[in-house]
Amino acid sequence: MNPRGPRPNPSTEVVDGIIERASRYLLDAPMGSDPVIAHASPSELATAFAATVGLGFADDAAAHSVSEVLASVDQIIDYSVHTSHPRFVNQNFAAADPVAVVGDWLGAALNTTAATFEAAPVFTLMESAVLHKLGRMVGYVEDGVSATDTPVGVPVLPPGIFCAGGSMGTLLALQLARHRLQPEMTVRGASGDRLVLFVSDTGHYAASKSAALLGIGTEGVVKVATDHEGAMLPDALDVAITEGIARGQTPFAVIGTAGTTVTAAFDDLDAVADICESRGLWLHVDAAYGGSALFSPTHAARLRGVHRSDSCVWNLHKMVGMTQQCTALLVKAPAQLEECFATHADYLFQSDKLYADYDSGDRTFQCARRIDVLKLWLAWKVGGDAGFAARIDHAVAMADYTRNRIAESDVAFVPIVAGTFTNVVFVWVPPHLRPLAAPEAVDLDVLTELNRCAPLIKARLQAAGTGLIGFQPVHGVNSFRMICMSPKLQPSDVDALLEAIETAGNDVAATQ
Ligand SMILES: *Cc1c(COP(=O)(O)O)cnc(C)c1O
Repeated sequence: MNPRGPRPNPSTEVVDGIIERASRYLLDAPMGSDPVIAHASPSELATAFAATVGLGFADDAAAHSVSEVLASVDQIIDYSVHTSHPRFVNQNFAAADPVAVVGDWLGAALNTTAATFEAAPVFTLMESAVLHKLGRMVGYVEDGVSATDTPVGVPVLPPGIFCAGGSMGTLLALQLARHRLQPEMTVRGASGDRLVLFVSDTGHYAASKSAALLGIGTEGVVKVATDHEGAMLPDALDVAITEGIARGQTPFAVIGTAGTTVTAAFDDLDAVADICESRGLWLHVDAAYGGSALFSPTHAARLRGVHRSDSCVWNLHKMVGMTQQCTALLVKAPAQLEECFATHADYLFQSDKLYADYDSGDRTFQCARRIDVLKLWLAWKVGGDAGFAARIDHAVAMADYTRNRIAESDVAFVPIVAGTFTNVVFVWVPPHLRPLAAPEAVDLDVLTELNRCAPLIKARLQAAGTGLIGFQPVHGVNSFRMICMSPKLQPSDVDALLEAIETAGNDVAATQ
């Protein structure tokens, strides 16, 4: 056989080997005192992979043997962060729902694009059904109106579109907002008016990135003052809008945040909606993080007023454990999507083909679009509303447990904000600095020492693999942020994490 010719098909062995490893990992993910991460530097990673297939590609990259490739798959798993480990409390996602994971595999196996009914008949209807349900939860679609407008029970025109993440959702929503004010803009380009939008100073940076991309400019983003917990002060919003107009700017949108990334604060959406209504501004709700509170009868009220907004972005890949990414952009007036985004490409959206009115591709920016709805549809059918509600309630219960542990810690740990939802923001205080004055009243030397502690403690936990926890400045203090999101997180994990921080902290304090 020509050694340069096609290899005898090795893919069955490779495919079986990867499936077997992925299944084993999925059903038997690391937990307890297993490391959350096998920490390695970039050069250690490169050395490790050099023993199998290497990380890089030569100019004449050769094929590798099945055993070498599978050895590299073991390394990929071993050196990855185990985000399903209960002690991964680092980010606004954790512990993917196993049904969502295999739903994603199935979607990849069926590999299609959600743009047209012709290429994705099942997924087009599923997306419509799920968007309709989410739209009812937000209050855009009347409750009990179960899409009886079609014989198949899902609407032809759903109240939104799935998109590639929360940042993308906000970008699209701001384009819709501008389009409502300046419908000629999509044809003629930006008007030259100094458009301005408003978001809280704790809101997500997607606002600034979107403004940069949309040609509004980051100077067209006004950061509105917040209360101590991180929620927008509605009076400050009203003043900021008046000031913007006085400067000759043209306000067009307000972003209200339902669950800020760091402190999980919820803006008072009713108060913000009052202002938007009286000023005639588009209200977009960034519910990327906190939207899933709507699943929980106990916590849904945090989003009171969301039904009054014009658009709302909701990441299902955060609190309810879908794999990344799974994001719905919901809109109150669905026809606006096509008015704003359609280009009517005649090779794809032929109006004279079968069921073309179901096509979603001209209602968004993307051309090919992943069928992110499938995993959500499956997980939702498996667990029902109650399955997702349980995830939210457990997360808040674990955060409450953490807050209590901190309150009882006898000044070793100090909360930086009170917090009522899933995020716990606190500092560990070196013994010689206890009791700490109110964090905003500590003097500069103490603050400098505190600010040095968090990254050093984190690095120790990371190196040992005992836990992965984030930190960031809040009210000027480098604070830990424990995100209690994983359904696997138990009080014993919280205890172990706090103890690991204390141990590493004492270590750091001793070597300073
Ligand atoms: C995560 C997050 C986003 C961004 O979502 P991506 O899917 O990561 O782009 C936006 N807003 C808030 C409040 C978030 O927490």
